[in-house]
Parts: sequence; C-alpha cells; structure tokens
Amino acid sequence: MKEKKFETTAIRTQIERSQFLEHSNPIYLTSSFVFEDAEDMRASFAEEKDRNIYSRYANPNSSEFINKVCQMEGAEDGFAFASGMAAVFSTFAALLNSGDHILSARSIFGSTHSLFTNFFPRWNIDHSYFKFDELDQVEKLITPRTKLIYAESPTNPGVDILDLEVLGDIAKKHNLIFVIDNCFATPYLQRPIQFGADLVIHSGTKLMDGQGRVMAGITVGKKEFIDRIYQFSRITGPALSPFNAWVLSKSLETLAVRVDRHCSNALQLAEFLEGHEKVNWVKYPFLKSHPNHELAKKQMKAGGCVVAFEVKGGLKAGRKFFDAIELLSLSANLGDSRSIITHPASTTHSKLSSEERLETGITDGMVRISVGLEHIDDIISDIDQALG
Ligand SMILES: *Cc1c(COP(=O)(O)O)cnc(C)c1O
Repeated sequence: MKEKKFETTAIRTQIERSQFLEHSNPIYLTSSFVFEDAEDMRASFAEEKDRNIYSRYANPNSSEFINKVCQMEGAEDGFAFASGMAAVFSTFAALLNSGDHILSARSIFGSTHSLFTNFFPRWNIDHSYFKFDELDQVEKLITPRTKLIYAESPTNPGVDILDLEVLGDIAKKHNLIFVIDNCFATPYLQRPIQFGADLVIHSGTKLMDGQGRVMAGITVGKKEFIDRIYQFSRITGPALSPFNAWVLSKSLETLAVRVDRHCSNALQLAEFLEGHEKVNWVKYPFLKSHPNHELAKKQMKAGGCVVAFEVKGGLKAGRKFFDAIELLSLSANLGDSRSIITHPASTTHSKLSSEERLETGITDGMVRISVGLEHIDDIISDIDQALG
C-alpha cells in the first residue's frame, strides 16, 4: 500500500486488537507478562524473541506510542521514558563514557544545562557551548574526546533557529552522534533526521500530550544507538507508565490539527504584538522580521506555539503586565491547550546569572507566551488589556 500521510499514520498506527476486537485500544496496566512454557521463558529472557516480559522493558501501550513517534520522525526505533528529562539523561548516560565531551548549543532547556554543569562533571563528562548564530565556530570546539553534538531548535525561550543541516554535516564529517531535542517543533513541523540527526528526543509533556496532563519523554533514531539506550534503560528503570503511554498515543491522533491551530494562533498574536506601542520587540520564527525567518521556513512547516516579546519599561512594567493578565495562565509549562504566559528571567532561567541569560537570548523584560487553542480574539484581547 502507498505510504500514508502524517495524520493517517498518527491515527491508524495501533497495536494488535485483543480477542474483544475493541476499536479504541485498551490500557495494559500490567507490570509483567506470562510465558507459554519453560522454553518460551528462556528464549524471551535471552532476547531471542521480541515479546513483552516486564513493563520496565516494554509494554504494549508504550510500544504503540514509540511506534507512532518513530513513523512520525522517520526513525528506526525508540524508547519511551517517564519524562523528557529521563529521556535526555538516559540518552547521554547510555552513549557516553567517562572522559567524553559533549558539544552543545548554548540555548538549551534549563534542566539539560544543569545536567551538563552540575552532574556530568562528577562522571568526568564535560561540555562546550556554541551560540545559535555562531555555527562557524562549532568545528573549532571539537576535541579528540568529543562524542556528540546536541541542540534544540527553535530554542527556549528565545525562539531562535539553528541550522540543523549545517550541524548535521559537521557531525557527519567528524563522526559524532548528532542529537536534537525536537520538543518545540514536534515531528509535525520539523523532522531532524532529514537533516542528519541520529537521535531525536522529545518531552511528551509538551505539545505531544498538548493538554497538560501527563509527563513523558521519548528518544527515537538509529537502531544501533537505541539498542544501547534500551540496554541501559531496561536496567535503570526510567520507563514510561502504560497509562501515560495510552494517553499520549491518543494525543498524537490529534497532534496535526492541534499544532496547526497553535501555529495560526501564535502567528496572529505575533503579528498583533509587532504593531503594539507598548512592545519593544516580538520574535516568532514565521514573522518576516525574525532574523532566521528563511531558515525557519526551510526546516519547519510552521512557526510553533511559542512567541517571545519584550514589554516596554523593563522589569517593573513587566510585573504590572503579568498582574493584569486575566485569562492566560501564569505557569512555566508550554504546549498546552490553555495559553500560558511566563517570565523566564524570574522563573525557568532564574538560576542563571544576568550575563548567562543574555547569552541565551533572555532579557529581564522578556515574556514568553505558549499560545493555546482558545479563540485567538480572546487571547489577543487579554494581552491587549494587560498591556494597557
Ligand atoms: C520540558 C522540556 C524538557 C524536559 O521535559 P520534562 O518532560 O519536563 O522532563 C526537555 N527539553 C525541552 C526543550 C523542554 O521544553
């Protein structure tokens, strides 16, 4: 049969029906699975058979979720985790040895930055950072110990765009593992494997669930790397719960329609803010004024759900603006059906110094909005009245 489109795959990828011939998949809340006989048990444990043994290793619901994401990303295989950070940590821990060096973009998720700076040095794994707009410097940072290139695009919270193809070419030339955290774009908007990524990581907590209910993470990509991640993870136990996997697999059925609306709402909000007298600047990848608009259009289908802007009048005006918000949620999450407004300098990135924040593109008055699925008129009207 002809290869199916994204939406169809998202809906029609299912695990086998049970004897009850259910239309919608059940939840397999079981920690373990039974064997036919002694030989079946021996062969299963020897990994001669591909079958469920114990839900720390694999479970039908997590397999369905993994299978969907693999097809969406064009990946060979994957492993699902209890959170995005479990995916990030386990991926690095499975692939790196003491003495290895990570080459990473500077603008990365706060907890990933903490992992690099506060924990990996304990195991003698160090890192260097490159800036999103200085990819010509990346090769100079490669050492004989460098094993891996890591980046996110669009970045959080500055929504800057990194050229994935350039990074992919560097990784290939130097035989480095190329890993992309694709959480902000989702596989619907951007497929990093097309640009040379070996592995793609997601926090399922964000747009994949999209309704702010469950925590999850996933890593998909080349089988040789996923095998190592699987061997590490089946022992260390970061597995996704079957219930959360079931929720996520359902959520993915609507990913395309949700993300389409997130993006059209976000673009309309960005256009509104661009002309606003109380706003210094606004950044959104699909605004023509975005410094990397052309690159964004090349590697993404649309701009995503996050809009960044700066309220005129610095920190004080920013606080007044937040206190005047009525509809939007003041929260640190993103990718929810509810629009969320965040002040990165005092929340998600408060552990960084002012200089470190500026390096990652965060000014003190900067506001990040994760544009939700409410009617755009209501989103704009709340922000407009708060700015006033
Ligand atoms: C949220 C997030 C993570 C971590 O995911 P959790 O599910 O919160 O553990 C990693 N990377 C990015 C880009 C994120 O936004």
